[in-house]
Amino acid sequence: MRMFSAMPSAISSFSFHAIRLFLTLLPTIFFGCTGNKLRLKAWTDLPPARYTIPPYAHHLSQFKIALDPGHGGLSHLPNYKRGPTGKEEAVMNLNVALQLKEFLQLAGVRAIMTREEDRFVSLAERAEIAAREHCDFMISLHHNASDRAEANHTSVFYHLHPDYSPASMDLARAVYFGIVEALRLPEISPEGLLSDKLIYPAGFGLLRVARMPAILLESSFFSNPQEEKRLMESAYNRREAYGIFLGLARWAAGGVPSVKLIQPATISRTKMPEIVYSLADGVSERSNRSNSAFAIFSETATMKLDGERVSARLESAKNRLLFQPTTPLKNGAHLVQVDLQNLFKHHNLPRVDTIIIAAPTDSMHFHAPTLRLPADGVATIPIQISLFDEDGEAVWEGTKVKVTAEQGLIGNMPRRLRNGRAAIYYQSGIESGLVRLIAEADAHRDTFALELVPAGEVRTLSGIVQDDSTQAALIGVEILLADSLLATADENGFFFVPGIAPGERRFAARAKGYHQTTQSLTIARDQSLLLHTRVSPILGGLLHQQNFILDAAGGGTESGEIFKSGSAAARANLALARTLSDTLQWAGANVVMIRETDTTLATTARIEKVNELPQGLYIKFVYRKWEQDSTLVQCTIYPGNQTAESIATAINASFASRPNTGAILLRSTDVPEVTLTNKTAVEVLIKCRAPEIAARDVPALFEGIVQFLQEERKKAGQEDLAAQ
Ligand SMILES: [Zn+2]
Repeated sequence: MRMFSAMPSAISSFSFHAIRLFLTLLPTIFFGCTGNKLRLKAWTDLPPARYTIPPYAHHLSQFKIALDPGHGGLSHLPNYKRGPTGKEEAVMNLNVALQLKEFLQLAGVRAIMTREEDRFVSLAERAEIAAREHCDFMISLHHNASDRAEANHTSVFYHLHPDYSPASMDLARAVYFGIVEALRLPEISPEGLLSDKLIYPAGFGLLRVARMPAILLESSFFSNPQEEKRLMESAYNRREAYGIFLGLARWAAGGVPSVKLIQPATISRTKMPEIVYSLADGVSERSNRSNSAFAIFSETATMKLDGERVSARLESAKNRLLFQPTTPLKNGAHLVQVDLQNLFKHHNLPRVDTIIIAAPTDSMHFHAPTLRLPADGVATIPIQISLFDEDGEAVWEGTKVKVTAEQGLIGNMPRRLRNGRAAIYYQSGIESGLVRLIAEADAHRDTFALELVPAGEVRTLSGIVQDDSTQAALIGVEILLADSLLATADENGFFFVPGIAPGERRFAARAKGYHQTTQSLTIARDQSLLLHTRVSPILGGLLHQQNFILDAAGGGTESGEIFKSGSAAARANLALARTLSDTLQWAGANVVMIRETDTTLATTARIEKVNELPQGLYIKFVYRKWEQDSTLVQCTIYPGNQTAESIATAINASFASRPNTGAILLRSTDVPEVTLTNKTAVEVLIKCRAPEIAARDVPALFEGIVQFLQEERKKAGQEDLAAQ
């Protein structure tokens, strides 16, 4: 107040009081509507709820959104995802999602729910629903839990790292602030956006299996007693839903760039085609101004060809991105991806285009197992035709080949070439002499000559092997004559034996997953033999195309428990996995072993290995010493996984049908391999005095698996009937 000291005292005094008064009133003047002083803690006071649809929200209407309320269908489990007084997270998630759907519908948005009631939906099914409905992105709604009772803040999770899906990051940022503003929770997460790697090494299952941009919301903590109570109130759910909605609307208002492949059109006959994309920034197109309004960050417009960044050129004036290859591209399909950011720094939704390079056929090579065939009208020979372009490179697999013969017959051509190669089948004519085969592809034509010799000079054995139940041609079947291997069926199930002595011969066909077929043949002196063989699948092909991942627990320096017989548990686990693997493969299944040798493998390494494999049933084996006369088998599954429950039940029943063996089923999240893998998983723990692998455990496991598969097949059959 030193500035007033030189002034007349009356004025000074008046001004001083006026200013003091003004300063005192200041908060009241600006914040008078609430009657509160400006205080930092006022943040947690919820603003009045006025749910209006802002005009910019209409930009959302171009999107179809998958809403995924987490969990559901497990209310029979007393401790599953519940708050301090037992309220279920699944209910809170669903209530918020239903209210969010209403807001979205008011804004003209199509919203697809992965569940609308208290129902169990697997993660794969959730991803499948969103993909089937062609949703543009997916929002998974959850609420969080912590051992710290007062914990209560908002986190939005993305998959692995920001580069995994930049478009998901755009969504995550906008939705995060939408929720934070709406809920005004007492805590603010230091990071806000979090990688799901922080929770599980392979990330959240849903974000991993989602085939579109996806984020997972943990809006608040149901483990916090006050928050649990609020989350059960419809009005509070609406507030949260509105926050998510506003976040989404703001994101949409910032526009989403899009890209379109202009050139080359479908199939390119040249190997260095210029690749041209047209770009849209997602914002400037809304007004009818000229192209000069086009606004992207030019450095962000990038192109990837088969996953590798290429130096594409941006033509801003024409909104185009171009790339001219300087080296020839290989024949076949190539993947192109273009990314960019608009003035709001929003990324385009991911999209991969396929271009096909198909340089014309310039030369052909023929390959046949013999050039002399009997002119008996029976002998049939496979001929490989390889097609090359002018660079000597195999042509595109979609290239059409036509073959004709001057005499004899040409069998059906395969639809697609493999590595530029086609197998054709020629059945001999009855006149001896040279016979020409003529092959044509693109504008190229070539010939191949065979000699037909008088019948009786040579005789051949050839034929096709088929699956007896499906009639499908079988690849790789071994053909044996008097126990020695003579031929292996090719990619069309065809086999050929160029020369065979006349007389009685014992013939066998042998293949993985099939019963061996044996029959006696009479080879005539003057005629070839054409044989169509059918083989029967083991167990009706029940295990064909079934994938199993077998994991023997323990291993390496870790000795584990030692049984009376002297065998370590880790070694017994491995022996069990190996023997079961042999049995499953004999029946036609595909098996991957997580460890094949006595090596150390950390749990996280096992999980990562399992998660990278294609779909299959994952079984982990654990032997444990048990000082009782009877054996106890304990199958552990993830709670609510119905497929795992069926398998474990069948395996248990199979063990329990054996003398002195008990079996129990545990639904638990305590086994990391069961909880954190993205497969249907079962841990089989066998408590016994000594592992008796060959005698008891492998047959019990195998029969349990067979029982499960038979029930699944029956169920599928009933569903087919119901659908008719
Ligand atoms: Zn959850």
